[in-house]
Amino acid sequence: MSKVRVRFAPSPTGPLHLGGVRTALYDYLFAKNKGGDFVLRIEDTDTTRYVEGAEDYIMEALEWCGIIPDESPKHGGPYAPYRQSERRAIYNQYTEQILKTDYAYIAFDTPEELETIRKEYEAKGEVFAYNNYTRNRLRNSLTLPEEEVKKLLAENTPYVVRFKMPVDRILTLEDIIRGTFSVNTDTLDDKVLVKNDGMPTYHFANIIDDHEMKISHVIRGEEWLPSLGLHILLYEAMGWEAPQFAHLSLILKPEGKGKLSKRDGDKFGFPVFPLNFTDPATGSVSKGYREEGYFPESFINFLTLLGWSPSEDKEILSLEEMIQEFDLYKVHKAGARFSKEKAEWFNQQYLQKKTNEELLPLLKDLSEVQATNLSDETLLTIISLMKERATFVKDIYSNGTFFFEAPKSYDEKALKKAWNADTTQHLSALCDVLEQTDFSADALKNAIHTFAESQSLGMGKVMMPLRLTLVGELKGPDVPDILAILGKAESLARIKNAINHIS
Ligand code: GLU
Repeated sequence: MSKVRVRFAPSPTGPLHLGGVRTALYDYLFAKNKGGDFVLRIEDTDTTRYVEGAEDYIMEALEWCGIIPDESPKHGGPYAPYRQSERRAIYNQYTEQILKTDYAYIAFDTPEELETIRKEYEAKGEVFAYNNYTRNRLRNSLTLPEEEVKKLLAENTPYVVRFKMPVDRILTLEDIIRGTFSVNTDTLDDKVLVKNDGMPTYHFANIIDDHEMKISHVIRGEEWLPSLGLHILLYEAMGWEAPQFAHLSLILKPEGKGKLSKRDGDKFGFPVFPLNFTDPATGSVSKGYREEGYFPESFINFLTLLGWSPSEDKEILSLEEMIQEFDLYKVHKAGARFSKEKAEWFNQQYLQKKTNEELLPLLKDLSEVQATNLSDETLLTIISLMKERATFVKDIYSNGTFFFEAPKSYDEKALKKAWNADTTQHLSALCDVLEQTDFSADALKNAIHTFAESQSLGMGKVMMPLRLTLVGELKGPDVPDILAILGKAESLARIKNAINHIS
């Protein structure tokens, strides 16, 4: 069997949607599982939809995910160029070839003429299609006398090349995920293969490149399933062997119905793109998983499991394990429902697996933390105390802001619960004890215990108000741990400040 070669073929029309990243992932996992090649090809023949920066975005997103192409516009390769806009000469030669067969013809109908016909159909309540019924009444090389066609061409009249859909043929199509199904060619129209500027459309360029680049498997989104019949016939027309096809189902909205959209993300507060994207036309920024604080490992882990499950229903898988276990035949036929909670759960799992030393530079990357100048040793202790309850690195900061700055106010409810007439007096006495105590968590714990006993106070009577003075509310890790991190001077200042403030 020839080598497995799989391509991801995005059009640079904007940021990559989650569904696109998942397609790239499955392309990559399948290729690597089979010891094959993963190719990135940029399909930019439609200049009207080109978006500045989109190609770089796609490259950067794949790199962030750890999906590195073997061949691409950036990496080069034996079938370069990998950008369709640079492959015009290759396409020209195949345009000539297909026009010599009975599978293509030249059409001179102007956009205005077609628009008029479309409107006439609409007025009758019908939909116009350029197909095997209508083509015999339109202005093309099938209806016009040969002399006329020659004359129009000699006069440089603009034309397009269309596919001549065979009449009433049943096509039997195979899809690795969906099995076998049939289509009657009468339901398909005569798609434009080459536009009037000489550039091929998606359909023609796509099959030429898949053939030229020796692609063995086409794994892509289900929105391309209706094009499969045309593509198979194009291979037939060119006399080429077609690759195998697999069409992936959609990623669905959290409620289960319909394609996950950017609007769902905005509504429920999660990104639908891997990285932030700034629209060059409007300047508006769409949020990305990277900037939200997701680890790339957890991002690709949850994305891979949206539509495929490994044999033992294992959930946490490294990229290596995904490659080992990936099986295209086990990709689900039904759409996969997106869940923000599940995405967060994965990140939380990955965060717990990281060592404090691994988390340290990520915490120090946060601007809020950079502003504070705490030592690495202190930050490591904070990480060890706060990690367990964190989903993202930023939670270590936001759940523990009191480590970085003194409380600006005291929670009303907590005050009612923790503070009474005697509290000021107890805390003042405790301050005297703390002045004499070594500020290690153990020593502090003992000192507070002994103090509470000597005053015949329950531990809660001391710990709760003490916590309130340090944190501003009744949350956080053990009080002696907080005291030890803040140090003697800061702790005593906070306690005294609270006494003044609250009394
Ligand atoms: N350029 C197409 C897209 O953006 C690729 C479809 C395919 O993989 O054949 O989705």
